[in-house]
Amino acid sequence: MQKIMMKTPLVEMDGDEMTRVIWRFIKDELIYPFVDLKTEYYDLGLKHRDETDDQVTIDAAEATKKYGVAVKCATITPNADRVKEYNLKKMWKSPNATIRAILDGTVFRAPIVVKGIKPAVRSWTKPIIIARHAYGDVYKNTEVYAEGPGQAELVFTGNDGQKITKHVHTFDGPGVLMAMHNTDQSIKSFARSCFNYALDQKMDLWFSTKDTISKTYDHHFKDIFAEIYENEYREKFEKAGIEYFYTLIDDAVARVVRSSGGFVWALKNYDGDVMSDMIATAFGSLAMMTSVLVSPEGYYEYEAAHGTVQRHYYRYLEGKPTSTNAMATIFAWSGAFRKRGELDGLEDLIDYANKLEKASVSTIEDGIMTGDLAALSELENKTIVNTQEFLSEVRKHLEALY
Ligand code: NAP
Ligand code: MG
Repeated sequence: MQKIMMKTPLVEMDGDEMTRVIWRFIKDELIYPFVDLKTEYYDLGLKHRDETDDQVTIDAAEATKKYGVAVKCATITPNADRVKEYNLKKMWKSPNATIRAILDGTVFRAPIVVKGIKPAVRSWTKPIIIARHAYGDVYKNTEVYAEGPGQAELVFTGNDGQKITKHVHTFDGPGVLMAMHNTDQSIKSFARSCFNYALDQKMDLWFSTKDTISKTYDHHFKDIFAEIYENEYREKFEKAGIEYFYTLIDDAVARVVRSSGGFVWALKNYDGDVMSDMIATAFGSLAMMTSVLVSPEGYYEYEAAHGTVQRHYYRYLEGKPTSTNAMATIFAWSGAFRKRGELDGLEDLIDYANKLEKASVSTIEDGIMTGDLAALSELENKTIVNTQEFLSEVRKHLEALY
């Protein structure tokens, strides 16, 4: 077969531990034999982040702005143990947080649905995609532990001298308080990313907050979404035959559980963090969850939702074969190839991305899977394979599609 040609390089962000190992396996088995791969390579492995004082993470995010599409391997977010383990100069920030701060935008997480693995919620027959706002709120908060009795106030001082002071609480004894923020600009871009994504996927869009309790903060999110929908998207949605639907978060949770799926659920930063793990687990596992960061300017960064699978890596280092699930990492690559193909008008590349996903899914549906899935799958005949065996089976399925 003649290799598929690319025009613009993908921004390739390599990572850590087991996922770094799988990254190389996937390239060797499923990409190089089929695609004349063009990437601009950034090594976000923890050692190299430390050597470059984390400049490599910033460079990789800037390259994503230049080229438009990136694919990222899972990376270690250092904690005290990792600082010791890797003898780090300092406890570097989470690469994902650094990249999100540079690109802004919304994280979309979609489960990979396969036959034989039934969602814990029986009525879910179609995927539910979580759209998580990736800026502000509790992730950029300021917190205080107040040791004794006193007054807590919230103060805004405008550059024009305007001053707003609100009394928060009179403390009779010790307690805690917190302030957090978001910006109209970020909320608007969150809204537009969600509307665009729903149109792209031809799926309804749901949005939920706690606006009845948070009458200014959450209500503002609701108002911005409603205004942008009316002014910019209502017609497009009606033409596409899809709906925008707002409801209170507790009502949304109840409706989601009773639904058959098949919609995008937009959530504020914290709600999205919590609900995406719930949805991933209920659909099967975190190893079957894809993730893409979509910036308001239309930059895309694809990755797996899971981490570096540390426990498996230590087994791998002992020379033991590991049955680590490569699906979400394969789908990070296929998502990036498909988007690159769309932007560059390369039908062959889009077709390859579709076939790669089809081959991966059909391998599992034929009963060949890693241990984590075998534990969940209701198929009668299952063969548990290690990661490399799985990838070579996918390759056979992929070759059969050409
Ligand atoms: P993890 O890597 O997601 O793994 C947690 C557990 O989930 C694993 O031990 C494994 O369970 C199971 N698992 C996850 N992915 C799997 C896969 N592909 N195949 C099979 N099983 C899978 O989370 P973690 O161990 O808490 O974190 C490890 C490192 O990842 C941390 O340093 C963290 O900072 C980093 N992290 C990075 C990202 C990112 O880059 N986006 C996200 C989250 C975490 P069993 O061990 O029971 O088999
Ligand atoms: Mg989380």
